[in-house]
Amino acid sequence: MRIGSGYDSHRLVEDRKLIIGGVDIPFGKGLLGHSDADVLCHAIIDAILGALGAGDIGTHFPDTDSRWKDASSIKLLSTTVELVKKNGFEILWIDSTVIAEQPKLQPYIDLMKKNISAAGILPGIVNIKAKTNEGMGFTGIGEGIAAQAVCLLKAV
Ligand code: MG
Repeated sequence: MRIGSGYDSHRLVEDRKLIIGGVDIPFGKGLLGHSDADVLCHAIIDAILGALGAGDIGTHFPDTDSRWKDASSIKLLSTTVELVKKNGFEILWIDSTVIAEQPKLQPYIDLMKKNISAAGILPGIVNIKAKTNEGMGFTGIGEGIAAQAVCLLKAV
């Protein structure tokens, strides 16, 4: 068995869609990034790559590569899940937390799980939690949104 952890954060700006867990969430601002800046998918990808011992998201999907410009992070996640299989592992469990003062994410969690299952991670092996940061720090003042994830892999 192998365990990996992942962390990501993106700045909240005007004139961007807010995509988290593949869900287009209605909100006045969105996350800034080269891809769709899906902070949850990025944290999960880094947790998986960490458990695989395969570097990080920047190695596999560099922001200097035009292929990943505005890319769907669900697709990047799908590519990462393929890498798990190619390396002879299977995903046993993923737990994750999104840290955002606003908007409330709880109503979208089932839809996030559904989108993530399209990348090959079934809803029964992924947990998504949503927290505020009690008004403290960059997430607390709404400057950005952060996410953390852990992934447990088993050799097959
Ligand atoms: Mg990111």
